[in-house]
Amino acid sequence: MSARLEPCVSIDFDSSTLDEVVTKTKDWALMHGVCMRSRQNFSPDSINFAPFVLVPSTFPRKEFEKAIELQTLVNEMIYRIANNYEFLKTTLAITNTVDPFTAQLFKIYTTVQEEGVSQAIALGLIRSDVMLGAEPEMPLSSFKLRQVEVNTIAAGFGWLGPSSGRLHRFVMQELGHGDKLQQLPENNALEALCGGMLKAWEIYNQPRAVILFIVEDTTYNICDQRFHEFEIRRQNPNVRVVRRSLTQLGRGAAVLDAERKLIVDGHEVAVVYFRCGYAPDQYPSADGCEWDARLMIERSKAIKCPSISYHLAGTKKVQQVLAEPGFLERIFDEAEKVAKLRDVFTGLYSLDLDEEGDRAAEMAIANPEKYVLKPQREGGGNNVYGKEVAEVLKQLKGNPERASYILMDVIQPPLLRNWMIRPSTQPMLVDTLSELGIFGVIIGNSKEILHNSMGGHMLRTKIHTANEGGVAAGLGALDSPFLVDL
Ligand code: ADP
Ligand code: MG
Repeated sequence: MSARLEPCVSIDFDSSTLDEVVTKTKDWALMHGVCMRSRQNFSPDSINFAPFVLVPSTFPRKEFEKAIELQTLVNEMIYRIANNYEFLKTTLAITNTVDPFTAQLFKIYTTVQEEGVSQAIALGLIRSDVMLGAEPEMPLSSFKLRQVEVNTIAAGFGWLGPSSGRLHRFVMQELGHGDKLQQLPENNALEALCGGMLKAWEIYNQPRAVILFIVEDTTYNICDQRFHEFEIRRQNPNVRVVRRSLTQLGRGAAVLDAERKLIVDGHEVAVVYFRCGYAPDQYPSADGCEWDARLMIERSKAIKCPSISYHLAGTKKVQQVLAEPGFLERIFDEAEKVAKLRDVFTGLYSLDLDEEGDRAAEMAIANPEKYVLKPQREGGGNNVYGKEVAEVLKQLKGNPERASYILMDVIQPPLLRNWMIRPSTQPMLVDTLSELGIFGVIIGNSKEILHNSMGGHMLRTKIHTANEGGVAAGLGALDSPFLVDL
């Protein structure tokens, strides 16, 4: 039996009440930009509302506050790893031999380290993803935060996170629960993330320079990028955002001038914000022009979000090595910081082709449902779950490529019943589970941290039978936390 949370309000609606609130909330979402472009019926001229759950998900206040409080420490951990060449080199050495994508990123990193960096300052807009975990039979009060991963590149939902909270405020009022709004925490993610980009822009100190968003050829999650652009204008009307794909940049849109300024179609670039570039298929050209663009950007004076070192600090292999006994202690001198971070880690295991890796593989083959197998990829849809974990590990026996994966304990959050609302589909009453993401903003050079703050949150919820909960991928839904004292 899985543990269950109680819905924040009764969700046993009669059909006319349900129909009325759902129809009205869909319109609210459409009219407030809680939207995405359709993959099935794509048109640049229209958007659909993004999938959402009807009422906010019950979430233990203590664990939510713990996640918020921990964020600046997570930021500092990423900052320290990103500024530790030796650590990254050693940690990724084996991965680089079996994973060509990570190896390509690492090559850019090494090239720039050896040449000497042109821009000492980096901007991190990161998101630490956590779930509530415990043994299934345990009482609800024993569920604790467990870190799923830290995203250091293209961490999305800075708009959709807070706007989901606003949508839920509307729903709660419509349902006659306006008295409970104080249990929906405030969320300034968009302001915080765009504020971070503008701080970096100010540090660059060139009034005419622009912020470059690196985007996909087709952006489905368009609201979550355009609202950032609009917010930057709102906070500083003098700052222009320019959007280009890596392919466009690599095909001539970007050049480096003699002083290593990055110039994109005539605009000097102060800050580069990557919303793309974390997956091999985002470097599609046979001549490698996207890789040329990535290297050019890294060599430039522009402040990168992320720099290649922050990107590498977010790899799954780094996460696994950090969880090994003694490694956090090498990053931090302060025992208290180590203890706080370690407290949210869950079991992570190396699958390198050695005795330790063999032991981990055997353990997972014997009990595959208890583990997730993860390659060095980002963006969802890459992990292996359930019986397939055993199959893949059996196939990889004795194969050095096993080292391109890491193994992780499955986190089993408590279930919660909710209505899932998707475009062109009837509302579905389903058992769900949630993943909380906390944003962080960090700016620093190799010597010091110049800015470190928590930057709001987002909550994603999926049907409990789905392995992954990507909203853009169609498996998850927007949500927001409703805080309770358990
Ligand atoms: P990605 O970089 O592709 O987002 P993640 O590690 O975040 O990779 O995994 C993708 C999704 O898979 C998560 O959002 C979560 O829903 C699920 N997942 C990942 N790791 C675990 C885990 N240890 N336990 C349970 N679910 C997990
Ligand atoms: Mg993820």
